[in-house]
Parts: sequence; structure tokens; C-alpha cells
Amino acid sequence: MHLTRRTAAVLGAVALACAGCATSDVRLAAPSGVGSSAAGAAHSSAASSGAGHASPSGSATPTASPVPAAATLPLAGKIVGIDPGHNGGNFDDPAYINTTIWNGMEDETCDTTGTQTASGYTEAQFNFNVATDLQGDLVADGASVVMTRHSIQGVGPCVTTRAQIINQAHANVAIDIHADGGPVSGRGFTVLEPVADGPNDQVIGASMAFGSLVRAAMLADTPMPASDYYGQGGIIQRDDLAGLNLTTVPKILIECGNMPNPTDAGLLTSPQFQHVLAEALTAAIVAFLTGQPIQTG
Ligand SMILES: [Zn+2]
Repeated sequence: MHLTRRTAAVLGAVALACAGCATSDVRLAAPSGVGSSAAGAAHSSAASSGAGHASPSGSATPTASPVPAAATLPLAGKIVGIDPGHNGGNFDDPAYINTTIWNGMEDETCDTTGTQTASGYTEAQFNFNVATDLQGDLVADGASVVMTRHSIQGVGPCVTTRAQIINQAHANVAIDIHADGGPVSGRGFTVLEPVADGPNDQVIGASMAFGSLVRAAMLADTPMPASDYYGQGGIIQRDDLAGLNLTTVPKILIECGNMPNPTDAGLLTSPQFQHVLAEALTAAIVAFLTGQPIQTG
């Protein structure tokens, strides 16, 4: 969820040291066990399930190694940034998350609590679950992944720091994962795209291309419709969010659904839907980074 400019402006601002903003938080998750025997086992499993590895001549020999080199994975050598919005501890530290930061265009709060469903399932939890699923899918495809937070119990970091973590990792593409807190009657996902403001000037076109792929993958691979209350056909440009204003890598933010809506909430709280959603986002990322069409599944 992202507050409107007006709502954010009325939140109190408290000067507080940004203790959670250490940039040492950058941690790259390498493809699991690359270069080790563990990698061989993982890749062997993947290869054995993929008929595409069979010899096109039909003369595959049973003694041929089923283990592809890591470089054959679609995202080998790529770095992907994932920002699971908010954090579980934000509810307990309003002084910290209401700290005012400069988002490149205007003042914004360090972070917010995020929204939740009517039953109290938090956006912070949803975002982290999807991010973790997505991380696993991307690593399996050969990517290195940088996450902006590593648990559901922490506070922050500030949205500026989240952008900085991904920029400093030189991610090839990045995604901010959220769910919206819109009107109860509203349904659907929205892809938020950056607007040129200086720092992000070089990645606007790429971010919009990536956003189109994310929208297409969501429509093709998940039961979540495009939003019927926010943006146009599931897309909107935003110039008031640090994560998009300050990015120097191609990035979009996705509101994966509307948590107050009962139908959307039923999907968003489902582990099965969260897996399907992560797979759709993976398909969009693979398509963006390889130039290949989205592999619907
Ligand atoms: Zn959010």
C-alpha cells in the first residue's frame, strides 16, 4: 500500500537516527550451491524434468550427463532486486517509520505499516511471503538476488535505504512487492511505474517495458484481474515514491491485489496463490532479462 501524497503529508514527522539504514545490509543470495556438488544435484533435478534437454536428433545417449552448466540457466549472471514492502515490526515503532526522508521529489515518511485484510493478515507478511517465493524461483533460474529485508519481525529499513540497497547491488532489474489498501469494493492488481526525475532518468523506458511484462504475466498466469479502481488497465505512473524516484536500475512496484476486498483477500492470503504469483513475476523477469516471450504456465 502507498499513501497518497496528501495522506503522507499529514503524518507526523519525528527526527530519529536511521539506525536501520546501514548499507551493510546488502547481501547477495547466490544461486544455491553454484560451483558445488549441491548445485549439481539441484540442476540435475531440473534437467531431468525438462524434455527440452533431450538431443534434437533423438539419439540421446543414456550415459550423457543430465547436469547442465550453470551458464545454461536463463538468469545466470543476472542480479535481481526484491523489495518486500513494509516490515512486521513497523507497527511497534511509529517514531522510526514516521521519520521524514527526501524521496527525490518531496518529503515522504521513512516507511509505513502497510495495510491488512479484514481478518488482520498483514501486507508486510504477504509481501515477504511472495518475495521469498520469488527469490527461490529466481535463484533456481540462476539469478543472484538482493533482498531489502530478511525477516518479518524487523523495522524498516526506510524506503530510501531500500532503493539504495538495490542500486548499490547494480541489479539488472528490481521489483517492489506490495498489496493495496483500496476501497472494499475495488479489485485487482496495479503496476506502478517511475516518472523521470533525474536519478531515474536512464531507466524509465526499461522500467515501463518491464511493467508491461509484469502486467501481461499477471493477466496470463494468475486469477487476479487488473485493478478496476486504480490506474488504467493495471498500470499507473507515480512520481511520489522513493523506491521509484531514486532507482538507478529498471524497477516497478506492484500492488498485487486489494487487501480490504474479500475476493482479493481470499487470494492474497492463500499460499497457493502466493506461489502462482511468484511464478508469474519470475516469468516477467525472465522475459525482461532474456528478451524471450513470457513463458506462460
Ligand atoms: Zn504497501
